[in-house]
Amino acid sequence: MKLTDPAQTLAALIRCPSVTPEEGGALTTLAAMLSQLGFSNDRVTFSDEGTPDVDNLYSRLGANGPHLMFAGHTDVVPVGDEGAWTQGPFGAEIVDGEMYGRGAVDMKGGIACFVSALARLIERKGVPEGSVSLLITGDEEGPSVNGTEKLLAYAKAKGEHWDAAVVGEPTNPDQMGDMIKIGRRGSLSGTLRVDGVQGHVAYPHLADNPLRGMVSLVDALLDPLLDAGNERFPPSNLEVTSIDTGNTATNVIPARTTARFNIRFNDIWTAETLAQELRRRLEQASKNTALRPGRDPVRYSVEFDARSSPSFLTRDNALIEALSEAVAEATGRTPALSTTGGTSDARFIKDYCPVVEFGLVGKTMHMVDERVALSDLESLTGIYELFIERWFERYASSAEAR
Ligand SMILES: [Zn+2]
Repeated sequence: MKLTDPAQTLAALIRCPSVTPEEGGALTTLAAMLSQLGFSNDRVTFSDEGTPDVDNLYSRLGANGPHLMFAGHTDVVPVGDEGAWTQGPFGAEIVDGEMYGRGAVDMKGGIACFVSALARLIERKGVPEGSVSLLITGDEEGPSVNGTEKLLAYAKAKGEHWDAAVVGEPTNPDQMGDMIKIGRRGSLSGTLRVDGVQGHVAYPHLADNPLRGMVSLVDALLDPLLDAGNERFPPSNLEVTSIDTGNTATNVIPARTTARFNIRFNDIWTAETLAQELRRRLEQASKNTALRPGRDPVRYSVEFDARSSPSFLTRDNALIEALSEAVAEATGRTPALSTTGGTSDARFIKDYCPVVEFGLVGKTMHMVDERVALSDLESLTGIYELFIERWFERYASSAEAR
């Protein structure tokens, strides 16, 4: 296999059926490629009660600083309706300049391009002066319990320290060069329960319909808006994802109802201040009896999920500039610096070092016929190669200046 060719490195990874939590040979294949480039591999399996055991890989080249980390995952989501794929999901077939396969863009493609970029850089200039490591999990698309979070702690306990990290998730909405992610909104979920009194719809005075109270409470969660956003982040947004009463009768007032909601929030809030604000709104709204004239305040309870994630924003200008310049030079386009989208493993990495995200075009991720243009693989490999070179140069010159 020619490691400098991302189509070859990606094909080898796609052919490993690594649907979470199966390793499927993907980490073994990747480790073998990295060994060829001189990396030392550390395979480690993590376990936790109630979740499947997951294989992970930490691989490092070099012994000294500065230290650049590339992070990602080799696990993939299930193929879904296999009959609907026009090419086998683990075949890595190339049709009309596109390679098909689960993980082509999310995110075996990103890993393959990084490996090929390193291979090209080493061939052209030798190994970088410093260290490069790959922190690769098999548990990103699953519960994310036995993956990046534990692997970071494990490596740190062994004395590893990083100066910057790049996550290779697909970040470009339409074409290569669109977008670098320099932060993410936080996420907080909650459950709201309202209790009433069950009864006959024809005798509402003998009952207390919890849905009336729920309507008032949900209205208070949604209105007014949480904030207007700021120059770094879009506005925070609350979505009610369900209101469940489970009542099949049209002549019965139900006894209780439950709503679930999720907030994607910017750096104006923390999970704590946000929960506080929502509790305040609910308490106030519970006393509003417009929909339940003459009644006592709404009887309700609200619980917030313990597993919330905070927002973060990367402020390492050298890292952001090295990547932006590489993107601009390779694509001729100026990438937007964005904090949109869902959460990623960058939320764990940001506690160890500055982190940015840049990868392929995300259009077909998780879909039937996930595929990547060979020209995009070539483009991303070129960007990563330039970026690695630039980052080490910048780091060396800023260290001199200190
Ligand atoms: Zn992914």
